[in-house]
Amino acid sequence: MFLKISKKYSMWVWVFLIWFFSVIISALLTIIIIKLSSNKDYLLGVIIACIVATVASLATAIPSLLRNKKIIRMKDKIIELSRKDGLTKLYNRTYFMELYTELIEKTLRNNTSITVIIFDLDHFKNINDTYGHIAGDEVLENVGYIVKEILPTELSGRFGGEEFIVVLNKINKKDSQIIAKRIREKLDNNISYNGKEIQFSVSVGAAYCNNNYLDADTLIKIADDNLYKAKKLGRNNVSFQDVANNIN
Ligand code: GH3
Ligand code: MG
Ligand code: MG
Repeated sequence: MFLKISKKYSMWVWVFLIWFFSVIISALLTIIIIKLSSNKDYLLGVIIACIVATVASLATAIPSLLRNKKIIRMKDKIIELSRKDGLTKLYNRTYFMELYTELIEKTLRNNTSITVIIFDLDHFKNINDTYGHIAGDEVLENVGYIVKEILPTELSGRFGGEEFIVVLNKINKKDSQIIAKRIREKLDNNISYNGKEIQFSVSVGAAYCNNNYLDADTLIKIADDNLYKAKKLGRNNVSFQDVANNIN
């Protein structure tokens, strides 16, 4: 318990200990000096000792406190960089899978519903070939921005090159269908690049699962199969599957 607290507030524990021992040592030294001198004003002596010790310990602790804060900030930044994709600012595949697996376990424990939505840019190779790779990057960046705009709280990630994934937690079938359609609509869009309008769209595959056992990978596989169906339907389409009832 104490170890846990001291780890969380380690720098403050450290500052307190420096201050505390400085005060004790200074007070003891002052008492000894006063005892040896003719002036016997102990209280004033101890107060002065405490003030001197406080100033001295703070002067020692503050620079390391600031250094510590900087290290913590840098550590947070490194953690964020390792979890997010630099271009789209969505979670990268590794971190997404970590959170998704936890969510699936929770879903199975609580018997709630979950929907996996995978979508992929249509004919994205053509965009790269026509406008260049940097223009393609701008489209991907825009997709990340739109995903966060329409689903700010849902778990989402960049699953592959131009493939994305979203997980809807405890959202019923009807609303999941509405969201899958909204993703397609909002990503049937265009961006301005070097004075040109670049049109893009996505195909969406979704798997809704309620009250039945499914492992994390199988659910993704079913969503991916539906993405393939949406592509086959002519792209810029949605294919939605209720896994439990095998209904599309
Ligand atoms: P489909 O509609 O079947 O999905 O066709 P597609 O052209 O989108 O699919 P394909 O798999 O043939 O091509 C995907 C392209 O996405 C090829 C690859 O160069 C491009 N791509 C993947 N990652 C990035 C990236 O980070 N930036 C850019 N600009 N392009 C990327
Ligand atoms: Mg594609
Ligand atoms: Mg693809």
